[in-house]
Amino acid sequence: MKKFITVIMAAALCVSALTACGSKADPAATASDAGQAEEGAAAGEAGDGAEVSEALADGVLNVGTNAEFPPFEYVNDSGEPDGFDVALIKAIGEKLGVEVVVDNMEFASLVSSIGSKIDVAIAGMTITEDRQKTVDFSNPYYEAVQYVILPAGSEIAAAEDLKGKSIGVQLGTTGDFIAEEIEGAAVSQYNKGVDAVNDLINGRVDCVILDKNPALVFESKFSGKITAVDGAQFDFGKEEYAIAMPKGDAVLAGQINAALQELMADGSFDKLVEQYIEQIEE
Ligand code: GLN
Repeated sequence: MKKFITVIMAAALCVSALTACGSKADPAATASDAGQAEEGAAAGEAGDGAEVSEALADGVLNVGTNAEFPPFEYVNDSGEPDGFDVALIKAIGEKLGVEVVVDNMEFASLVSSIGSKIDVAIAGMTITEDRQKTVDFSNPYYEAVQYVILPAGSEIAAAEDLKGKSIGVQLGTTGDFIAEEIEGAAVSQYNKGVDAVNDLINGRVDCVILDKNPALVFESKFSGKITAVDGAQFDFGKEEYAIAMPKGDAVLAGQINAALQELMADGSFDKLVEQYIEQIEE
């Protein structure tokens, strides 16, 4: 199912930005067609497509992530950040001919570090209006939804049941924002999703609100102790992941979107989905 969705997304992106499919030509058109690049990034500035963003002039793409979000990012057995997002941004870096250096940071510091400590962030990050006040987003690359993780045998089953409950979340995430809107909820914020899940297992919180794929990873890791329930059952809406970039850098946005679309068009993107995500799908 997920593959089907990503294929559709890739096709849709190609249709909406024909010039960028299979070519790096006219990155500005790509960025503005996607509606993600901001006004300051006037199309004319991006020139003939050969232009390289100042952020990449040193030949390095400095990327921030928070490697606590499997399967999108985690620390592998060699102690290195790994996962779907890490592989995707490395493939983008390869297309752009730059070295990719990944910095493992707290999720809540990523957005404010863009343009100073890091060039871009890839971290299963949902496009939100609030974040768009500070950063621009690439074209979306993955559809997500929040899940509700429950201890085995919990009676929580619908939006109503979440009222007044003690809810664990990862600090500064969309799950956190949703939980804070729930009437009477006592929200406990953790730096790592897994710490929230451990407190759920220890009975310190009633449920955890976390993105679908990490929730499924934790469900299989703590098999029998917890269940991960689709947030659609709790009226949570769809979310889209995208790469967060400095505000107004249309050249960089164009370069990244063009590379992303090439990877979607040539099948590399789907291979990464299979390799990192589909093995642990329901
Ligand atoms: N998708 C969620 C967000 O953007 C969580 C991301 C994460 O924890 N890495 O807030």
